[in-house]
Amino acid sequence: AAAAAAAAAERELDPVTCFLLSTYDDVRVSDDELREKDAIMNLLKHVVHSVRPEADIVAFGSIQSGLALKNSDIDACILLPDIGEEMEEFASECFERFTALGFEGKYLRKARIPIIKLLSDTKNRYYYGFQCDIGFNNQLAIYNTSLLHQYSLIDPRCKQLAILVKYWAKQKRINSPYYGTLSSYGYVLMVLFYLIHVVRPAVLPNLQDSPHKQDLYVEGFNVGFVRGTTVARRNTESLPQLLAGFYGFFAHEFNYRESVISIRQPGGLLKKVDKDWTLAKEHTGSADQVIKDRYVLAIEDPFEITHNVGRTVSKAGLFEIRGEFMQATRLLNAATLHSTSAIRKLRA
Ligand code: ATP
Ligand code: MG
Repeated sequence: AAAAAAAAAERELDPVTCFLLSTYDDVRVSDDELREKDAIMNLLKHVVHSVRPEADIVAFGSIQSGLALKNSDIDACILLPDIGEEMEEFASECFERFTALGFEGKYLRKARIPIIKLLSDTKNRYYYGFQCDIGFNNQLAIYNTSLLHQYSLIDPRCKQLAILVKYWAKQKRINSPYYGTLSSYGYVLMVLFYLIHVVRPAVLPNLQDSPHKQDLYVEGFNVGFVRGTTVARRNTESLPQLLAGFYGFFAHEFNYRESVISIRQPGGLLKKVDKDWTLAKEHTGSADQVIKDRYVLAIEDPFEITHNVGRTVSKAGLFEIRGEFMQATRLLNAATLHSTSAIRKLRA
């Protein structure tokens, strides 16, 4: 009876909502794939424990936040506090054991903090695409992943929007931090900003601005936020309405020149001048490479508030991103007026 009611409810949905929900179902990671990734993590855990019993490996990023697309890579992080000088030796030992198990990859020892990239599984044990990036002691990434996860649990539309926007950004090739555009993480923060601070009534509460929040300091930053299920707000907009509102806001309303996108700031309003985020700065990265921190698109990390998540975005990159926001706004508005050809183009 419940299934019949759900089917009947779906028949009631307008065609654009049906299209978006079916796209969402097509592109998001399946439970089957998540189970496989879980098994991979268990295998890696076993290896890491065998090198050092006190070490651990945990997943972060989209596999852990629930915002993964199909064939997503695994972001993982080895935790071994106070390792100091022995880090290099420990990391290379882990890498050797991974290779012995039939994984192929690279060990980037040039970086001050080593990185292991596992690129394939020569034993072909896995059905879904396999790729895994392993970093070390990256605690803030674990906390920001759980913040994203917590938000995604509050309202189903949050997860749907985040996954649709990530998929769209990949299709449009504006998701390449190395080539002047924005990481997936940056797009998800933009979606959260819209749902917390722009749309009214809000879809999501600000989990970092609540009397029930418990402060907790990690690497000098306050990573406290309200955990546990939190009640969603009164907003009843449909998925296409929210998506069109999101695109429209970032196409035509947001002041890129002066403002900073901040999900933690009460009211969400921050100015670049107030953070001294005006002139690009150069600094040396962990592999001694020169990194240029730009402030063309300013997105404050929710915890590491000195960090601009949009630092990779160049002027040309932002021009492209805004162009795609405008195009998406036009297509969604046309689709809402029942043009099936516009629906098809949205996906192309
Ligand atoms: P995808 O499914 O495309 O891999 P993802 O949701 O895993 O996307 P990524 O952009 O790969 O997102 O980021 C994974 C994690 O890495 C984030 O949860 C965040 O912790 C960290 N991260 C990524 N980009 C940044 C950044 N620019 N600044 C700080 N942390 C970042
Ligand atoms: Mg990832």
